[in-house]
Amino acid sequence: MVRYLQKGEFLNDENKLTIIVPCYNEEEVLPESSKQIREIIIELINENKVAENSTILFVDDGSKDQTWKIIEKLHHEDPIHYSGIKFSRHFGHQNALIAGMTTAVQTSDMIVTIDADLQDDINAIKEMVTKYHEGFEVVYGVRNNRDTNTKFKRRTALAFYSMMGKIGVNMVANHADFRLMSKCATKTLLSFKEQNIFLRGLVPLVDYASTEVYYSRNKRLAGESKYPLKKMISFALEGITSFSIMSIRFVRNLGILTFFIGIIYSLNILFQHLTGNTVPGWSSLTMSIWISGGIQLVSLSIIGEYIRNIYSEVKKDPALLLKKTCPIKITIFNIF
Ligand code: UDP
Ligand code: MG
Repeated sequence: MVRYLQKGEFLNDENKLTIIVPCYNEEEVLPESSKQIREIIIELINENKVAENSTILFVDDGSKDQTWKIIEKLHHEDPIHYSGIKFSRHFGHQNALIAGMTTAVQTSDMIVTIDADLQDDINAIKEMVTKYHEGFEVVYGVRNNRDTNTKFKRRTALAFYSMMGKIGVNMVANHADFRLMSKCATKTLLSFKEQNIFLRGLVPLVDYASTEVYYSRNKRLAGESKYPLKKMISFALEGITSFSIMSIRFVRNLGILTFFIGIIYSLNILFQHLTGNTVPGWSSLTMSIWISGGIQLVSLSIIGEYIRNIYSEVKKDPALLLKKTCPIKITIFNIF
């Protein structure tokens, strides 16, 4: 399947699209989803919207089933449109996306990330590419229905988005990790050197020209969700602790409130004590519990603020984001 360039022929690699597909034990869906995603790439190539060497980059997140074998087979059949990288062990969905982007950004102008199970509508990729050509650097895929999810997942997702909004984290509602990013936007995103990655919170920080495309969410093609409840909770906590100081501020305010309630209640206790309505030891004990409880909470939140500052330094988030122009493109030309 390798096509050699004819004499005098250019390999037009402008507008190269790479579709990153993270895979964790996806042997049941890969044979079908790889075929369907490839068809979209071929359609886009035929419409001259993306380069001929546009590709699907599978990232095997340490799967224990036949996932990698399938990826190798696909690459063997069509080395241009199927490529892959494999982790030595399981590192998680977000790390798989970052690894894919780090690899793809070297050669690609457009990078799309999509799940392997085809829950996201692959036809939206075509719309995303059109938006890219209109000048948008980030195109978010937004679900206009969640009917295929369980009632529980729908409700918790809704509660999560609304809570994130309230605590001041800028996120696109009903958007998971199905999006297109330009080379420049991806490079800027990768300048965030976080260890605990929450892309849905990070991408809006890039703040390049962005838009949304809407699609209907399908059922999983086959197999089970790789995001069980426990993983979802730790993912949500990642988002909250990485992007918001509100939880520490909440503890501080609770501490101040407890302290003042303690003072007012202590006046009452003192009055009871002076009028002889208490047993020995009770007044001092109750007053000290309230007041010291408040002081402890405030002290904890102060320590929390220091830890938060250390965390920001350690994360080494870029202090400012420059809007770079992409480097000059290299075109391969066959002179033989
Ligand atoms: N995934 C991954 N590592 C993980 C969990 C998930 O690479 O630890 C991949 C998975 O193979 C799929 C995508 O991330 O391609 C989203 O997972 P899934 O569809 O199971 O999540 P859900 O749609 O149920 O939230
Ligand atoms: Mg899914």
